[in-house]
Amino acid sequence: MAEQGTRPPALPAAGDLVVVAGGGVSGIAVIRYLVGLGARVLVTADRVAPILPPDLLPSVRSGAVEVVADLASPPPGTALLVTSPGFPPATPLLVAAAAGGVEVIGEIELAWRLDRAGTDPREWLVVTGTNGKTTTVGMLESILRAAGLVVTACGNVGWPGLEAVLDVPRQQRIAAELSSFQLHWAPSVRPRAGLVLNLVEDHLNWYGGSMAAYGADKALALTGDIAVAVVDDPGAAAMLVASPAARKIAITASAPPVGALGVLDGHLFDGAFGNGPLLPVTGIRPAGVHNITNALSAAALALATGVSAEAVASGLRQFEPGEHRNVEVALIDGVRFVNDSKATNPHAAAASLAAYHRVVWIAGGQLKGASIDDLVRSIADRLAGVVLLGVDAPLIAEALSRHAPNVPTMSVPGTDHGVMTEVVRAATTMAAQGDVVLLAPAAASLDMFSSYASRGDSFVAAVRALGEHR
Ligand code: ADP
Repeated sequence: MAEQGTRPPALPAAGDLVVVAGGGVSGIAVIRYLVGLGARVLVTADRVAPILPPDLLPSVRSGAVEVVADLASPPPGTALLVTSPGFPPATPLLVAAAAGGVEVIGEIELAWRLDRAGTDPREWLVVTGTNGKTTTVGMLESILRAAGLVVTACGNVGWPGLEAVLDVPRQQRIAAELSSFQLHWAPSVRPRAGLVLNLVEDHLNWYGGSMAAYGADKALALTGDIAVAVVDDPGAAAMLVASPAARKIAITASAPPVGALGVLDGHLFDGAFGNGPLLPVTGIRPAGVHNITNALSAAALALATGVSAEAVASGLRQFEPGEHRNVEVALIDGVRFVNDSKATNPHAAAASLAAYHRVVWIAGGQLKGASIDDLVRSIADRLAGVVLLGVDAPLIAEALSRHAPNVPTMSVPGTDHGVMTEVVRAATTMAAQGDVVLLAPAAASLDMFSSYASRGDSFVAAVRALGEHR
């Protein structure tokens, strides 16, 4: 629904020429939608032509969909350009589109417009933050389902928002995990309740080094009716203060101030919607203070959309934590091996490391421009040893020599999958009984692996092999 005096944002129509930049999961969802609509689609990607799934090949043969490897600018007559969230605004094609007056949006913006244009627009619940998004939106999904609602988390978790909006049976709420990139290209989204978990350095490459630009995109989540933020995190707390939302709800792992959600007498406590104690903190998995604030945040979003306190408690109890997120893999000779491959930046790794006493830390990969010094300084006293891998291993080694010069450190060179076996072997030589060998790389995996999941799988396989040879 448009506000009075403003025109509803445009949707593509049959016969329109629409350029789709990027043939990933969200791009394919957009192409399918456009083909169904009768639009003409020109698909492009960086350097290589995207590979389309078989169901779209008849549309390629009929000419409704054209695939090109590299497009410098949208052809004359282009009505709209829908971009993958992976493309930064400085991408030449997007710059050329904007200069030529062609609107550039993302798949989430398209989903939002489509939902608003329907007869019964839904309440959107949006989760963002540097870390904890997937865990939190999973908790939210679990709560909404416990309340009997038809909801599957969408967005950055891997199910395009556009598919969620079009899904049959109808999704009763749109529970979306949105990255800063997705928010950037979805400027109209105004959630019923939006959440910022935290804001720390990440993805600075995409933003040309600007933390302010990264934060500004995340802040879009707080432009709806209700803004929720974890105030233990200074970045998120500042965003809550600046939010234009009519209602603001603070989340803390401490005793909650008036109107906030927090922890009181060992219970998650709702002081915002009047429910009081929700459930004991011992009912929250995975372990760690950060997961308490994740759970409180999910509870706030659910309560904002009218769900009962009982559903919050049972949904959180039923929640199954995701793979590669602080999962204990094995206990070998008194040493615990834990896979937190999803710790792809220093802030996530810090949360992870804080959950253990003495750690042999496996780290390294692509730091993406983030600084590692604060992390290394804050965890130096709990390190029994460090094993480094990946392209930015030298940067972490330098930080260790500055802040933890006495901690034994080893770098394992190479980029093939066998490296992980070496890494695990080296870590084992540094670990004593009672220690935790923790894969929490603080870095992205793409220099060596196809994803954080394949990095985690490689670690699990190496640990299992080690266990079998005992
Ligand atoms: P995202 O979807 O934002 O990447 P995940 O839920 O997948 O977040 O968690 C990613 C990593 O961040 C995990 O390694 C986990 O240990 C850590 N983490 C989870 N929640 C938080 C939080 N609230 N603050 C800091 N780190 C967190």
